[in-house]
Amino acid sequence: MSEQAPESTLPYPPIHRDKKFVVLSDWDGTITTYDSNDYMTDHLGYGKEKRRQGNLEILGGKVTFRDAFREMLESVTKNGHTFEECKQILHDNIKLDEGFKSFYTWCKSVDIPVIIVSSGMAPLIRAVLSNLLGEEAANDIEIISNDVTVQPDGKWEIKFRHPTSGYGHDKSQAILPYRDLPNPPTLFFFGDGVSDISAAKYADLLFVKSKAGGDNDLAAYCKREGLTHLIFEDFGKALPVVQSIVEGKKTIRDVTSS
Ligand SMILES: [Mg+2]
Repeated sequence: MSEQAPESTLPYPPIHRDKKFVVLSDWDGTITTYDSNDYMTDHLGYGKEKRRQGNLEILGGKVTFRDAFREMLESVTKNGHTFEECKQILHDNIKLDEGFKSFYTWCKSVDIPVIIVSSGMAPLIRAVLSNLLGEEAANDIEIISNDVTVQPDGKWEIKFRHPTSGYGHDKSQAILPYRDLPNPPTLFFFGDGVSDISAAKYADLLFVKSKAGGDNDLAAYCKREGLTHLIFEDFGKALPVVQSIVEGKKTIRDVTSS
């Protein structure tokens, strides 16, 4: 199988070359409690039932993430919702994982970069982040995501980072450069859904967020593919695990083999 990297239409932030640990995390449904794109599709687009059907089709390999995700977002624009309106609705409704702020602050204090790797659209992520984490952190935190094209009349469509990849945004491309460094850092990846499938197998330690209602697509994928992962409820619960590894008290094997 060809492992050729898809061409990126959007820039990447520079690699952190001298770190011992790097945290990469999905945004929607992982750092936030409700996936903002799901929120838009469920409330402003064609609804949850059809959206879940799409997620399961992605998981089953019947359709690419890119095409199913584009269709979900199109159901929002077809209902006449402008980008600004969507931004405001998400700003007002999306909440942060309750442990994330302390997790992020701790990582900053011990010089561990935290990078958001998302299939969402950058302006929406920043709008929600500045509301929940403050302007400074929102500007400071690195985001590798998709983007959006907004027309003068307010109509909008997602601009994929990797339009030639079935993932739309192939998240492995945010991780692999770290693995290629002469002294690669230990990589922690946090995710929750089908958008994280492209990244799942490249982390040193994969955290998968637990989901109420059994809609845990990433956990289902990991189980099917036999990928070692750790289920976490929120970042407050993940923090001591990360700390124990960073402080050398435990190894990744210790925390995953229980
Ligand atoms: Mg997600």
